[in-house]
Amino acid sequence: MKDNQPNITIIGAGASGLAAAITLKKSGYHCTVLEQAKSVGGRVQTLRENGLLLDDGFQVLLDAYPALPEFLDLPALNLIKFLPGSMIFKDGKTYKLGDPRRNASFFWKTIYTGVGSFKDKWLVFSLSRKLKNKSVEAIFQEPETRTLDYLQDYGFSSKIIHNFFKPFYAGIFLETELSTSSRMFEFVFKMFNEGNATLPAKGIQAIPEQMASQLAADQIKFEQKVDSIQGNTIIMEDGQQFKSDFTIVATPAGSLVPNLSSQDLDWHQVTVLYFETDHAGFNEPIIGLVPNEDCLINNFHFLNDIFDNHRNVISISVVKPHNLSDQQLAERVVKELREETGIKANELVRCFHIPKALPQLESLNYAMPPSETQLNQHVFLAGDQLSNGSLNAALLNGKAAAQAVIAKIEDRVLV
Ligand SMILES: Cc1cc2nc3c(=O)[nH]c(=O)nc-3n(C[C@H](O)[C@H](O)[C@H](O)COP(=O)(O)OP(=O)(O)OC[C@H]3O[C@@H](n4cnc5c(N)ncnc54)[C@H](O)[C@@H]3O)c2cc1C
Repeated sequence: MKDNQPNITIIGAGASGLAAAITLKKSGYHCTVLEQAKSVGGRVQTLRENGLLLDDGFQVLLDAYPALPEFLDLPALNLIKFLPGSMIFKDGKTYKLGDPRRNASFFWKTIYTGVGSFKDKWLVFSLSRKLKNKSVEAIFQEPETRTLDYLQDYGFSSKIIHNFFKPFYAGIFLETELSTSSRMFEFVFKMFNEGNATLPAKGIQAIPEQMASQLAADQIKFEQKVDSIQGNTIIMEDGQQFKSDFTIVATPAGSLVPNLSSQDLDWHQVTVLYFETDHAGFNEPIIGLVPNEDCLINNFHFLNDIFDNHRNVISISVVKPHNLSDQQLAERVVKELREETGIKANELVRCFHIPKALPQLESLNYAMPPSETQLNQHVFLAGDQLSNGSLNAALLNGKAAAQAVIAKIEDRVLV
């Protein structure tokens, strides 16, 4: 560690705050991370109980994310890969749709007849080729349209949009209109094409836990809620105050910093329900989709297809907003699942509502340049909400804020 260390505080032990702390540590700077919750991870949480791994919201790690190698030891996470495709349940039939170049169990001929056209198949190949040759930076410089308009303009049929793109990307964007920026669509499509959707064998929270393990044990202070930041003073919820020469706010800063509250964010929400089921699963890790727009169910998968020795448990994501109680929602979902897929769900194991899952952003960028993370003399901003709702953006923005702090301390000009 360097001598004459300034006080550096990070607010939030989500992926972004942890990336900032790791970046500082690598450059020889100590920081303290204040986290209001009892564990690391922020929006990346896993409930581990009775031998079950229940992620608090279904999310995947796209292993092609460029930011990962710097912060994660991917082999040590024992990543389980989803198959590059989906099972689509429609009108009493099941279609397995995916990329046959990457997995031989996907056959174009049979699947496209029910859910799309031959032209759609060609367009998927052409889009894959186009995005393979386009950098992520170039993707985020394109003019933005709604993803739905982008797909229509690209020439995809309404059939494939309805049967595949809508349910698949609704489950990623957490909104059913596909109004999310086409930049995000291109980015996610490219990441799926160049890598895999994965889950760590110990649940999604193994990601921030591995990051936290790179820091000193006492560096993260839990159950420490910050109330506000006034210049170089941090005021805690219990009234305590202390000095921080540099503070990185790795969460939306609107409620913490004076005069920023007008920047309060809107969020996409999601509900995830876990049920016991007699169904043995698909015998392979794959995501099931329900395209019927009258249904609340968006997607589902079986935990026993993913994790070893897991009881037969199905995870179901509901993206559409609803006003149902847990009991009403569970009954509705069980009925829909039986009618749409023939799968019988038994006892409800857990229901997680995540009201603030993904930030609703007008315009997306790939990552903040370090020079733009500085809010004032003492405060720097991080978090995915500055760029796009993804772990990749969270990591890059945490790193950018830390780089800006280091440059300030070392009196270097950022380029
Ligand atoms: C259901 C769901 C599905 C998702 N799917 C995907 C996916 O498939 N792929 C993907 O890449 N991304 C996905 N994401 C997004 C991804 O999880 C986020 O981009 C990422 O976790 C954001 O990290 P962050 O550190 O920026 O923010 P957060 O994880 O929100 O971390 C902020 C931290 O700050 C703490 N904090 C806030 N206020 C205070 C305060 N006043 N005092 C102290 N601490 C405070 C919070 O407790 C939290 O720990 C999904 C998210 C959800 C919820």
